[in-house]
Order: sequence, then structure tokens, then C-alpha cells
Amino acid sequence: MDYKSLIRVIPDFPQPGISFKDITTLLKDGQAYKSAIDELAEFAKNKDIDLIAGPEARGFVVGAPLSYALGVGFVPIRKKGKLPAETIEASYDLEYGKDALAMHKDAIKPGQKVLIADDLLATGGTIQTTVELVKKLGGEIVGAAFLIELSYLKGRDKLKDIDVFSLVKY
Ligand code: AMP
Repeated sequence: MDYKSLIRVIPDFPQPGISFKDITTLLKDGQAYKSAIDELAEFAKNKDIDLIAGPEARGFVVGAPLSYALGVGFVPIRKKGKLPAETIEASYDLEYGKDALAMHKDAIKPGQKVLIADDLLATGGTIQTTVELVKKLGGEIVGAAFLIELSYLKGRDKLKDIDVFSLVKY
């Protein structure tokens, strides 16, 4: 499937110099969305995964259907201040901006195998922070799956020792 032709590229959004990869044009194509999730599931299926962790908001759009496809649980990673129970937090830099992510303290049991899912790997800061949160709770990272990878930002270099899969590369 030619996923790239379904991703809308918006120059200079949300600020000058950023080439924004808009996946909404892919998501509204039911066949393409399903096929994309199926391909991520194919990557993940032999990894004996217990849980998928995905950062808000677009990580939910990828991680939740992937959880359903694999029949495993989903752990939402949220911006700090949003989760209602006791959390752990970690801060990070974005390609644009800075933020902190949070996860429920009881979301992962030590030794559980976790796959991380998001729409796009840019600098890798978001995923590195997600990895940090999962590891703090004793989870074992078995891979990371993305629809898109911006190879020129070298996010993969931050995720050494992690099996990284992406469907579309720029
Ligand atoms: P990073 O932490 O730099 O890897 O950034 C990853 C997160 O920021 C992803 O969850 C994306 O949703 C968002 N993001 C960063 N850069 C872009 C971009 N050029 N186009 C679309 N989304 C982006």
C-alpha cells in the first residue's frame, strides 16, 4: 500500500521550518488505516507482548487498535495532570517545545513485556521518555512501532537496543 501518498505534508506547521506529517488523511481511509495497523501487528505478533503503551493523542490512534488486533492491554501515556490516580512523571524536549509525560503507577507490573506505539518518530524524545516511564515500573521494552519515521532527525539513535519498526520513512 502506498501510505505516503495518503499522508498530507504541511510545510511550516506549527512553526516555520517544521514539515508536519498529517495522518488524518490516512486515518479517514478505512482500508489504509486497517492495513497500516495490520502491518504493525505483523511486526509485533511474535514478541509475546503483554501490553502496548502509547503517548497521547496520536499514540492512542495507533496503539489502541494495535492492542485490539493483538488481544493485549493498552496503557495510555498522558501529559502530566490528566491521569486521575497516582502517577510517575518524566519531562522531555520535542522537535517543537517541551513537556512532561505521566503514567499510572500501577499501569505495568515488573517483568511485563511492553511494546511502545506512536504515530511518528521524530527526535525520539517522546519515546525515550515513554521508555523511561515503562522501565521505572520494571516493564521490559520489546519494541517500538510507528506509522512514520523522520529518519533525518535520527530518533532511532536514541532508542539503541530497541527493535524499532516504521511503515513510512522520510
Ligand atoms: P519526538 O519526540 O521528537 O520524536 O516527536 C514525536 C511526537 O511529536 C510524535 O508523537 C508526533 O505526533 C509529534 N511530531 C513531531 N514532529 C512531527 C512532525 N514533523 N509532523 C507531525 N507530528 C510530529
